[in-house]
Amino acid sequence: MKILWLPATFGVTAIKPWFDYNFMPKNKIKILLVEDDSFLLGMYATKFEMENFMVVMAEDGEKAIRLAPKELPDIILLDIILPKVNGFEVLRQFKANPATANIPVILLTNLSQKDEIEQGLKMGAEDYLIKAHFMPSEVVDKIKKVLDK
Ligand SMILES: [Mg+2]
Repeated sequence: MKILWLPATFGVTAIKPWFDYNFMPKNKIKILLVEDDSFLLGMYATKFEMENFMVVMAEDGEKAIRLAPKELPDIILLDIILPKVNGFEVLRQFKANPATANIPVILLTNLSQKDEIEQGLKMGAEDYLIKAHFMPSEVVDKIKKVLDK
């Protein structure tokens, strides 16, 4: 029988990642979906749940700002034109809060919003999606790509 000898410095913290990857059930990817169009919200939420993602929904900017630090999602999909607080202000507050500053944000935009996309990327958004161009399955691919970075 092979005896595994570990030096004293090779403590619990050093072997913890090995346990996490091999034995712990992988946590579901949690998405905060911020979109005021109820049709799009429902369509994306259904697709994400089929992908086994956990979805938290916000229909306005105020709710998004309230939910993000509490839910700490892995990724945020953020519409720009939103009731109550617009997407830019929501993004600014996410980036200003240390709890949410490092969560990648993908902007949900319309075709006509080139300037807004530019502004959002400058403010720290990771990427953007033009809503009319993407099928829900492509959105899922994009989310996975951003999370793999
Ligand atoms: Mg909108």
